[in-house]
Amino acid sequence: MTAKIIDGKAFAARLRERIAEEVARVKAAGVTPGLAVVLVGEDPASAVYVRNKGRQTVEVGMESVEHRLPADTPEADLLELIGRLNTDPAVHGILCQLPVPAHIDAAKVLEAIDVAKDVDGFHVSNVGMLYTGQKALVPCTPLGCLLMLRDQLGSLSGMEAVVIGRSNIVGKPMAQLLLGDSATVTVAHSRTRDLGAVVRRADIVVAAVGRPEMVPGDWIKPGATVIDVGINRVPGEAGKSRLVGDCHFESCAEVAGAITPVPGGVGPMTIACLLANTLTACCRANGLAEPEGLAV
Ligand code: NAD
Repeated sequence: MTAKIIDGKAFAARLRERIAEEVARVKAAGVTPGLAVVLVGEDPASAVYVRNKGRQTVEVGMESVEHRLPADTPEADLLELIGRLNTDPAVHGILCQLPVPAHIDAAKVLEAIDVAKDVDGFHVSNVGMLYTGQKALVPCTPLGCLLMLRDQLGSLSGMEAVVIGRSNIVGKPMAQLLLGDSATVTVAHSRTRDLGAVVRRADIVVAAVGRPEMVPGDWIKPGATVIDVGINRVPGEAGKSRLVGDCHFESCAEVAGAITPVPGGVGPMTIACLLANTLTACCRANGLAEPEGLAV
């Protein structure tokens, strides 16, 4: 193996330390950043995720508020709660955990969140602001990828970047963030012809597809930086399952300059970036200097 392994767990831990320092500064100015997380229903994976979010929010010194609503909560009640959180001055970030039950229109819920408190960065106004180069709150997973790429490469200016996947949550915002850092960006997707040839051009590859190990090492340009967003559960040994990314790790690591592993790469950065977004939202709401390099 020749590639440097980008340790997302360690990077996220350092980021949280930095956030904790910034939270202390903001608190000294008289404001405690607050994050409200809303969970509707009993989805077990969501419950674990929300618990982790709550724990990490408190660990960096922020206020964490959780609203757990039963699965049959009417949409109107959820919208009413979001309305209250929008006007609560102690709440700087609001996140409604997806998926919501089928009788609730997720798009309607996301649009109901105050743009300035939309720490998931999914509101169309935040999407528009990102696309037009204005100050935005940016989806956490691509923001985490950008921070790792900047840390690894310094300036991304002029680099060839290929993003595989065009979802609203990862692929599209990732492409915009790379463009914002002056990379030359190609977005590849399920209809892309000769994906291997497209990926071989890239100094930076971000794979966000959800297909286990679909990117082989011989698609990777020697020395490229590979960010693997995919999380795929596949059968492992002794009847157990294991997680793999969208890139075939062993063969890609033979060729790449640096690569994120799965697990332990992009994954840990997502909650750290949620905390970063909450801090940014709090600073902006209170006219305080926002931490450098944690937002766009
Ligand atoms: P999605 O299903 O919304 O989008 C997948 C994209 O891949 C689509 O745009 C599609 O065009 C593209 N695609 C599908 N088949 C393809 C093919 N054969 N070749 C090229 N492109 C193809 O998925 P998503 O929400 O963007 O998530 C992608 C992956 O990232 C999933 O594995 C998900 O679990 C993971 N993910 C991880 C994190 C994290 O680490 N915190 C966060 C979000 C998503």
